[in-house]
Amino acid sequence: MKFLISIIILTFLQACTQKYQPVKTSSMENKEAKNNPYYSRTDTTKLNIANEEWKKILAPDLYAIAREAATERAFTGKYNEFDEVGDYYCAVCGHHLFRSTSKFASSCGWPSFFEADKEGVYYVRDQSYGMDRVEVLCKRCDSHLGHVFDDGPKPTGLRYCMNSVSLEFVADSEK
Ligand SMILES: [Zn+2]
Repeated sequence: MKFLISIIILTFLQACTQKYQPVKTSSMENKEAKNNPYYSRTDTTKLNIANEEWKKILAPDLYAIAREAATERAFTGKYNEFDEVGDYYCAVCGHHLFRSTSKFASSCGWPSFFEADKEGVYYVRDQSYGMDRVEVLCKRCDSHLGHVFDDGPKPTGLRYCMNSVSLEFVADSEK
């Protein structure tokens, strides 16, 4: 009898595991398979593309964060715990934003940098949600990247708190 119960429980557990197996995220593949005529890592010409157009091109998670200033959940981003050597580009347009040497281990749950490419980003005061923050945007395509705070490490004292989804990393070894 005990044996039978074990079998039943096991079968039940197995069924549950199968049922609740997480769906594989397709975020990466979506981005790789981009059909994005505006994307370039060499062309720095300013873009002025309407959101209706971006919506047709970008993966839904990237569109929500980059064009509607949504925030990815803390500790979920692919670059949160990531320390390879290379460069970070705008996932929307390919503009250069950060070098890996300015990335530091922060406990905030999002990839953090103490310095941005001066030609890569610009800043806007953001007083949404009852907070007073400084929003960081891509200089080429005006996409939302994250916020910058003044509690970062030396030498700048800044903490660029970025969404992984808004970034695209290219390792030096791939160049
Ligand atoms: Zn951009």
